[in-house]
Parts: sequence; structure tokens; C-alpha cells
Amino acid sequence: MVNYLKRMKERPVNYDQPSDSDRPVNDVISLLQDLVRIPSDEREAEVLACLAERFDRRGISYSVREVAGADRSNIVATWGEGEPSLILNSHMDTVGIGDRAGWHYDPYGAQIDNGCMYGRGTADAKGPLAAMVIAFESITAELDPHRGRLVLMAVAKEESGGTGTELAVGDGLRAGAAIVGEPTGLEVLTAHKGVFRADITVHGVAAHSSEPWEGRNAVFDAPEVIVALRELSRTVAGRSDPLVGRASLEATLIRGGIARNVIPPSCTLTLDRRILPGESMDDVREEILTALEPVSREVEISFEPVSRAESAVTPAGEPIVTTALSAREAEPKGFPACCDMWYLTNRGKIPTVILGPGSLQQAHKSDEHIALDDLRQAVHIYRRIILDWFGRK
Ligand SMILES: [Zn+2]
Repeated sequence: MVNYLKRMKERPVNYDQPSDSDRPVNDVISLLQDLVRIPSDEREAEVLACLAERFDRRGISYSVREVAGADRSNIVATWGEGEPSLILNSHMDTVGIGDRAGWHYDPYGAQIDNGCMYGRGTADAKGPLAAMVIAFESITAELDPHRGRLVLMAVAKEESGGTGTELAVGDGLRAGAAIVGEPTGLEVLTAHKGVFRADITVHGVAAHSSEPWEGRNAVFDAPEVIVALRELSRTVAGRSDPLVGRASLEATLIRGGIARNVIPPSCTLTLDRRILPGESMDDVREEILTALEPVSREVEISFEPVSRAESAVTPAGEPIVTTALSAREAEPKGFPACCDMWYLTNRGKIPTVILGPGSLQQAHKSDEHIALDDLRQAVHIYRRIILDWFGRK
């Protein structure tokens, strides 16, 4: 259900006021502490309220869009009008902390130690989000709003499928380019892998295990499927892309049987296939079905796709790529994981790069942290890209 709550405000801006380049950099640390101290693994409402309160104070207009119930919404702030236009996208949700195993710091304490801030989301992705918010706010305070349109999307449900960005793009949100704030170690990433997951179930017939000939053992039949997939996995592993690296096909789960004394009537394997830019989802699916075809003549199999995210790539010649690379004086790289970029590029047709402070190796781990120097530098880099973007003709 679409539920838009639009609040438009007047912006009190003094265009003659020069920007103080150090202030935003210090603000980013206290903002990140505020965000990390709000747990947001299954609800973004308090993080959203924190951002809304900041935008209200600065007279920045924004909209709130429900993604999954009242506690899980996107907040999209917009400044200026016309072209050029640029989207800054990052997410408010984090993964959970489980039973806190491996944590030596309070996951919601945002403690600073040795030049780093510790806590869930410091890297993925509250650090990138905080740097984007500070860069966005500083630009709204110093640029003429007729120079172009800058959009800040803080989305919900990225960690569970990207529904927030998917809905925003589905609602028609567009711009000339976008930056996705994920922990990339401040590298400019122009591509990411896609993923296709499916459950493959081998069907048998249950029977008392003292009379196995009355049934058919699905666990004993499952190796036929595993051997076929293992073979395909070797073929797939031979493919690679210069930006994102190797393709892969792995079995990640197997479950079968119902009791120790029952011939198992089914055995299900879950497949995780990582897709390169240039590989189509249909081809990937077809290739798996073709590999299983000989087995399916002997064994009854069903195939159920469970999730998918397309791969994405932004061509090297796109202005957002050259602008971001010149701000970093770097070469483009690829993202081995998946993120919200593909909704922007593939569905929204918006050239997009992924760029943010923090390391992907920190994401989803205990003692997650971010270097404060990275965080400060991210504000400068985002500001430089935005200023270059609005300065170009
Ligand atoms: Zn993330």
C-alpha cells in the first residue's frame, strides 16, 4: 500500500555564507554515534525519526513512504530543482547481533577506541549513511537550489532484499545518476554480482525403515542431483569478470528425512548461484535445469526459485563514473556481494556507483567498526562529487 506523507518546508538559506569545511566533518562522528545507538535490525522507525528531526530543523523537505508496516519506511529528502540531478542512497537497517557472541564492545555503544568507532552498522551502512547526510545538509546550506536537484534516500529493508529502494524506484524516483553508500573502503565500484537461489527437492516415498522396499529413499537419491550440480559448479567457476571476479554455484543447505526410523520422502538442497554482469537470469536458470535434466529421468525432482537479484554494471564512460573516479583519483572496481545498485541501474535506468567509508570485511561481523579518518574523508569525497556534478555543463 502506498502511503505518502509529504511535508514541504521553506528553507532559510543564506547564500553569502561561506561553508565551514571542518564543521561537517566533526558532525559526522556525533551523527554516526546517534545512529549506531539506535538498534535498527528489524525496524527503522527511530533512525528515520532522528533524520526527520534534523531535516525539520534545517527546513529540508522530505517524504516518508511505508515499506513494510508503520515501523519500516523510507525517508527521501530533496533539495533544489531541475537538472543536473543526483541521488545519494543508503540504508537504515542493519543485520542483528545474534547472541552477541564475539563482541568485545557494546554493539549499540558507538564506543570510540584507537581512531575507530565500534558497533553494529558502523560500516554497513550507518557510516556511509551518516557521511551522506552530513554532505547533503552542508550542500543544502551553501548552494543555490536552482543549480540542480539533490536527493537523499535513506531506505528500509536493504538487508532483507532491498524492498525500500525497489519501491522508491517503482514509485518513479529518478535522477541523472546515483551513489549507493555501502562500505567500499572509499573505492569507486561500478558493478556488482547478482544472485539466484533455488530449492531443489528430490521426492521419494515414505515407509517404515524396517520395510524400505515399500518406499523410495529420497536421501539415497539426492547424490545424483549433487553430482550433477557439482559438475556444473566447476564449469561456472571458470567464468569471471574483470570487475567483480568469479561466478559461482554452491549448495548451501541440505535437509531431508522426518525421523530416524522412516524412509525419507524428500530431500531438499538450496543452491546459491552468483551471477556476473552479462549473464542473464533466464540463462542461469536454464543452465541449472539442463544440468538436472538427465537426473530427472531417474529421480523425481522439483525446482523452486526462492530469491533473485540481478547483477549490475555502469559503463566506464558514464559521467558519474568519471566524476567519482576523479574525486578519488582511482580506478573502478567491482563489488563481490549484492546491493541496491541494480534496482537503480536495471529498473530505474540510473547510472550508479557504489562508494562509501568502512570495509566490507567488517559488515555483518562481531566488533564491527569504522576508521574515523575514513568517515571524515567520505564527507569530503561526497561533497566534492556533488559539487563537481552540479558544476558540470
Ligand atoms: Zn549494506
